[in-house]
Amino acid sequence: MAHPLLTIDLPDEAATAALGERLGAVARAGDVIALFGDLGAGKTTLARALIRSHLGPETEAPSPTFTLVQTYSGPRFEIWHFDLYRLEDPGEARELGLEEAVDGLCLIEWPERLGRYLPPVRLEVRLSLEGAGRIARLVDLDDWSTRLDGDWR
Ligand code: ADP
Ligand code: MG
Repeated sequence: MAHPLLTIDLPDEAATAALGERLGAVARAGDVIALFGDLGAGKTTLARALIRSHLGPETEAPSPTFTLVQTYSGPRFEIWHFDLYRLEDPGEARELGLEEAVDGLCLIEWPERLGRYLPPVRLEVRLSLEGAGRIARLVDLDDWSTRLDGDWR
């Protein structure tokens, strides 16, 4: 069941990156993190910080705007970073490797493009613009609430 977890103020880019790092610290193989939010909401910023928290700060993590997916061999599991803005049909996600991706850690920008193929067990991070900064709303459709401790607000 959907469980609204937390609302987090992200006053600047560093705060978005810090949220990505914190999610990276508790992420496990098999997790799906759905990153909702308009263009410029900070989805790639969060994903990149999470990827770097596993692969190292020097890791280039380009936006998969045109490739639709970038994969990384993390020390513990693969990380698949999708940007589905340009996905024309939800079924196309299969060709991108979505089925293999769910064995690793799956970060999905524009998850709504998946329609009924959106993995049902997931953490949702809903990013929105708020003045010069951003707000993140986390919704748990998994067991993240037991993994995230109370000092997040
Ligand atoms: P998206 O992938 O959602 O389109 P990006 O991650 O590419 O968005 O971010 C767009 C811009 O917003 C970048 O210039 C980034 O530095 C900036 N940004 C990210 N998070 C914040 C924040 N919390 N406050 C202000 N700017 C931010
Ligand atoms: Mg992006």
